[in-house]
Amino acid sequence: MTTQKTVIPITELEQSAFCQTEGNLRTKTLEEEFRAGVRWQKVPARYLKLSVAELDRGIAEARSALGGTTIVLGHHYQREDIIKYADFRGDSYKLSKMAAQTRDARVIVFCGVHFMAETADILAGSGQTVILPNMAAGCSMADMARTDDAEDCWADLASVLGGVAGEIIPVTYMNSTAAIKALCGRNGGLVCTSSNAAEAFKWAFARGKRILFLPDQHLGRNTGFKMGIPLDEMVLWSPFRPMGGLAPDQIRKAKVILWQGHCSVHTRFTVEQIRMAREQYPGVKVLVHPECTLDVIKAADLNGSTEFIAKTIGAAPPGSIWAIGTEINLVNRLAHEYPDRKIFCLDPIVCPCATMYRIHPAYLLWVLEGLMTGLVINRVHVSEPTRGQALLALERMLEVGG
Ligand code: SF4
Repeated sequence: MTTQKTVIPITELEQSAFCQTEGNLRTKTLEEEFRAGVRWQKVPARYLKLSVAELDRGIAEARSALGGTTIVLGHHYQREDIIKYADFRGDSYKLSKMAAQTRDARVIVFCGVHFMAETADILAGSGQTVILPNMAAGCSMADMARTDDAEDCWADLASVLGGVAGEIIPVTYMNSTAAIKALCGRNGGLVCTSSNAAEAFKWAFARGKRILFLPDQHLGRNTGFKMGIPLDEMVLWSPFRPMGGLAPDQIRKAKVILWQGHCSVHTRFTVEQIRMAREQYPGVKVLVHPECTLDVIKAADLNGSTEFIAKTIGAAPPGSIWAIGTEINLVNRLAHEYPDRKIFCLDPIVCPCATMYRIHPAYLLWVLEGLMTGLVINRVHVSEPTRGQALLALERMLEVGG
């Protein structure tokens, strides 16, 4: 019997690089931040020592010189010293749609992570260029579904089920590479977000008996659970074991086959943290992201996408108390924007997403100054046939709405 080697993505190993036990996250010079034990993209030496004030001036000058030809998109999880330059802010889906709708801008600088820039490029117009300021800003969850492993899985499932037509539909979370989206597109499947996962499941079940859900096991399990699918009909596919570690009968009986991936940020939240928050703040409402584990979802009061979290807090009454289970930069921003509400992160350790955090203002200045001289640095481009197949899966997602 052969066993595959377990490959843990580097992005997962690097996740705790910026964790702090106390204090605010404060932007330092890039040279100082380089000391964190993660991979950074190399930049010309002059950007290493620039202070936050110098970077601020430089970015403002570059923005004004470039005018409306360039837009900057900022994901909710970006640090404050990046989000303040964003023309639009939102979650990955909202930002990609904005990128597609903003046809006047020739260049889209996406301050987020790699799969988001890929999605923006797929949805963008033919004359538009998408830039990711730091190419080392990946996503550990997306890295957990490698293309060849997913292709092997699909072939294995076809062999057990006697073909895939009417038997299984691949559904991928937005947080996946363009290659995984393309796999779904060419095999009759679609993309979903954390807002429309249930609609995507219904769409898929209308076309097949079961779903292969990639790459986040928790969003998949939480969605299935919410829809009433018994837990023993949702099985876990390990990319590190032959046939996913499953017996043929388990696969045939399953309604949902969950890829063994997770978000390194959202799996930090625990039921014990919720218990402590309730003990310390009677009346607290616990609001978490659906990338958290099922036990956390069950123990929380509410769960939903980043946009849902932001909207819920925005609509909350003054004096209300909120413990939030999502990325710390968004939690801190909400606490700052709504000082009449008590808002805090469920996790007492300040631990940002280590890949989002790699978009340092020095990288933003670097790519903007490049554009001022006519140089495109860090273009993210998805070529055919991946682009067309991934677009198909994204268009099916738009069809289901949500
Ligand atoms: S928060 Fe999680 S899913 Fe989002 S970019 Fe970071 S690692 Fe990926």
